[in-house]
Amino acid sequence: MDKNDKRCEWCNSEAAMETILPVYWELPCGTRAIQITDVPSVSCEECRMNYQEEQVIGEIEDQLMLVDTSQIEKVITHKELMKLPRMLKRNYFRF
Ligand SMILES: [Zn+2]
Repeated sequence: MDKNDKRCEWCNSEAAMETILPVYWELPCGTRAIQITDVPSVSCEECRMNYQEEQVIGEIEDQLMLVDTSQIEKVITHKELMKLPRMLKRNYFRF
């Protein structure tokens, strides 16, 4: 995908730019939330919306389902999160 041709998913403006942002994320178990830093995000100068694209959200959700979340500190970088070893929790697969 051409990075310079990104449109805002909210207002369809071409002023949307790729950026990295910290995101608060509730764990699948629902007992606590963590902060994930350096998450690939989109920032729109037009409507001021900051958001993550569906693919990024899906990857994070899948990863949190498959790793041992008790090992995650309050704050983790997106890169660290994606590198965590996955456990085999077969029943959690959605596909
Ligand atoms: Zn926008």
